[in-house]
Amino acid sequence: MGDEQKLEKLAKQIKVCTLCELHRSRTEAVPGEGPTHAEIMLIGEGPGASEDKQGRPFVGASGKFLNQLLEQAGVTRTDVFITNVVKCRPPGNRDPLADEIEICTSNYLQHQIDIINPSIIVTLGRHSMGLFFKGAKITQIHGQMRQVGDRFVIAMFHPAAALHQLSLKETIMKDFARLPELLKEARAARGKPASPKKTPRAKKMDRKK
Ligand code: URA
Repeated sequence: MGDEQKLEKLAKQIKVCTLCELHRSRTEAVPGEGPTHAEIMLIGEGPGASEDKQGRPFVGASGKFLNQLLEQAGVTRTDVFITNVVKCRPPGNRDPLADEIEICTSNYLQHQIDIINPSIIVTLGRHSMGLFFKGAKITQIHGQMRQVGDRFVIAMFHPAAALHQLSLKETIMKDFARLPELLKEARAARGKPASPKKTPRAKKMDRKK
């Protein structure tokens, strides 16, 4: 099976998934969208009300702002793969629970990452950041590209945070504006064995290989 079919098969499984409680209250599950081998993968937290209705990621208010951020960085939305940590809307937009995150990421997100094999993963929000940088503070690491295993990950503030906190707007815009430059770095580094400074977590993951 080719990668496109593998990704489609996952999307079909996600659409009818009943592995956690979130399926009970969802309207549509949201597998994510974008090219099979996108170089940039954005991972948000979970679908909101608009996403739950339409079955597509980031189509509500934070999606509109995300579109602006990508556009001003010169990145075309249809060139990036956009998905979430959990694929079904947590009721009332509550935070996803630890077991919901574990079930959804081990069954779906991890496989999506493996298939897409992006040069850069951009995490949007706390839960997404926590998958790669446990215990990190977004105020300290936002916008910095770090190596995690054999991937490059950049933690960014969630676009919704900027909608509610104007002081963050400028910071997010600056971080997004550096995406093309960081993508060049990631491409070059992935083509070579040596690369930027590794985090302790990345070193640990390397040792496990
Ligand atoms: N917020 C997210 O984290 N993801 C979406 O898809 C929409 C809003």
